[in-house]
Amino acid sequence: MLKACCEWFSNALSSAGEKGYAVLPSHRHGRRMFLLQSRPFDRTADLSKLSVPGQPGMAVAIMVPLDFCPRCGRQLLPLVNEQTEAFDAEAIRLSPLLTE
Ligand SMILES: [Zn+2]
Repeated sequence: MLKACCEWFSNALSSAGEKGYAVLPSHRHGRRMFLLQSRPFDRTADLSKLSVPGQPGMAVAIMVPLDFCPRCGRQLLPLVNEQTEAFDAEAIRLSPLLTE
C-alpha cells in the first residue's frame, strides 16, 4: 500500500478503476508520476449500448498528471521518491487501468 499525503489522496489511491476520481501511480515519459484519473463509468460497466455507429467513441477515462495533491497541496515528488519500490509495484499492478 502506498503512503499518502492526506485522507483524500489515500481514498483516491484505493479508488482505481471505479466511477469518479482516482489517483494512479504511473511511469510516463520515463519518470514516475501520479495521474488523476476520472471515469464516467466503472471499468466493469457494459459500454456497448452507449456506442453509436459513425460517431466518435466516448472517453472512458481522462487522466491528468499531478505535481501537487489537489486536496492538501503537498508536492508529490518527495512522496514518490520516499517509496519507489512500492510505487513501482503499484504502477505495474495498475497499469492495465491506464489503457482501458
Ligand atoms: Zn494530499
